[in-house]
Amino acid sequence: MLSLTYVNQGNFQLLEKEKPTLQSPRDAIVRVTMSSICTSDLHIKHGSVPRAVPGITVGHEMVGVVEQVGSQVTTVGVGDRVAVNVETFCGDCFFCKHGFVNNCTDPNGGWALGCRIDGGQAEFVRVPFADQGLTKIPQTVSDRQALFVGDILATGFWAARISEITSDDTVLIIGAGPTGICALLCVMLKKPKRVIVCEKDPARIAFIKEHYPDVLVTEPETCVSFVQNHSDHGGADVVMEVAGAKSTFRLAWECARPNAIVTVVALYDEAQNLPLPEMYGKNLTFKTGGVDGCDCKEILSLIEQGKIDTTPLITHSFPLNEIEEAYQIFENHLDGVIKIAITPPEEH
Ligand SMILES: [Zn+2]
Ligand SMILES: [Zn+2]
Repeated sequence: MLSLTYVNQGNFQLLEKEKPTLQSPRDAIVRVTMSSICTSDLHIKHGSVPRAVPGITVGHEMVGVVEQVGSQVTTVGVGDRVAVNVETFCGDCFFCKHGFVNNCTDPNGGWALGCRIDGGQAEFVRVPFADQGLTKIPQTVSDRQALFVGDILATGFWAARISEITSDDTVLIIGAGPTGICALLCVMLKKPKRVIVCEKDPARIAFIKEHYPDVLVTEPETCVSFVQNHSDHGGADVVMEVAGAKSTFRLAWECARPNAIVTVVALYDEAQNLPLPEMYGKNLTFKTGGVDGCDCKEILSLIEQGKIDTTPLITHSFPLNEIEEAYQIFENHLDGVIKIAITPPEEH
């Protein structure tokens, strides 16, 4: 089968590999019907994910059909359409039992697929702990609708869940990339009084204005004063930092009102400064990533009810045999790309 493979730093190649087989009674084999490219894949390509294992198939956002299950898998069966969770978790350890699945203590726990074990930019993928890692897709939900459930939408949903948003709140979201937009969709479900998005890219600003006209938009240079002028208590009640740029951590806490919650979803390339003397008296609560991706069933139900729709994020589509061209576009932000759907190979 075709597999996009992390050969070494800077180098992904589409190679022929053996179809995966069951390695544990809790595994499932899934035929990938749609996958996507994530910024984290680029981080692997550029060598900034030290745990990534050369030789593995990349890709951790995908949906598919169950082909085979191990003898201990109970929640999905052959032929089921499923969303695959980016996180691998056992469901049994202390952290899993408390919903902190990102911290699963199993050696395979956490982000393994497409990083430490073979992922889904391929025709088939082996999913460990299939009872936890796979969620059945409701019949009326398409692959395009379900594509982001296991990764960026799970992240947005988790971020909104832990941010304790109320109907009186002004919520500021910094960064309107794919994950920022997913966070926005999940924040809107909580019906806060106001939502402000801070973004500098004109195409992303236009996307927000077109699709979510009720959302206020500001740019980084004017963000602090804009938020002060558009909130009730001198700053945002909740801030979500999804950008991960050089100055956006500082911007996040500067825009927060005293006693606000600042949820840091972003993954930074560098250490961030926590200038406590400057913050003293602001009494902020910081919540940090990564995602606990254990709400996929609820997310799929919300999609089924028409309450979440991420399909506008899919701006491009390529078959797996042309995935290298898709990476060109995604990596270089060409042609207004937001997300790319990768479909099974055609005629190779
Ligand atoms: Zn991802
Ligand atoms: Zn666990």
